[in-house]
Amino acid sequence: MTASREALSDLLERKGVRATPRRLEVLEELAREPDDVTAQQLWGRLRERDSGAGLATVYRTLGLLSESGVVDVLSHHGGEQCYRLCGDEHHHHLLCERCHRVVEVQECGLDDWVASAAERHGFVPTDHRVEIVGLCADCRSG
Ligand SMILES: [Zn+2]
Ligand SMILES: [Zn+2]
Ligand SMILES: [Zn+2]
Repeated sequence: MTASREALSDLLERKGVRATPRRLEVLEELAREPDDVTAQQLWGRLRERDSGAGLATVYRTLGLLSESGVVDVLSHHGGEQCYRLCGDEHHHHLLCERCHRVVEVQECGLDDWVASAAERHGFVPTDHRVEIVGLCADCRSG
């Protein structure tokens, strides 16, 4: 997903986050990544671009962005949190356990199952998250 600085700034405002230069810088770097990155990886890339952002700031910014629903958090790099800028629509993730490719799956057929599973235990479902882990087409044939 590539996005202009303007589009990213709009995205932040839609989610109620003030668009500071630092947040935009982090988000812009995240938008260049088709899969997902850890805070460490993202910080390394920012440093290569001569950014003055410290690691603690990158952690804090990613934490804020995920809490406000701007970015998704995945964990499949040995339990470390990974961040990804996804589309705005409800979606799920396919994760390749070998090459760590991430694919966004837009279609979701889980609503009926979610509703009945929740109801059986007296819950009203407000959201659900499902990640499908497996081997991508390249890794299967490799
Ligand atoms: Zn996502
Ligand atoms: Zn793979
Ligand atoms: Zn769903």
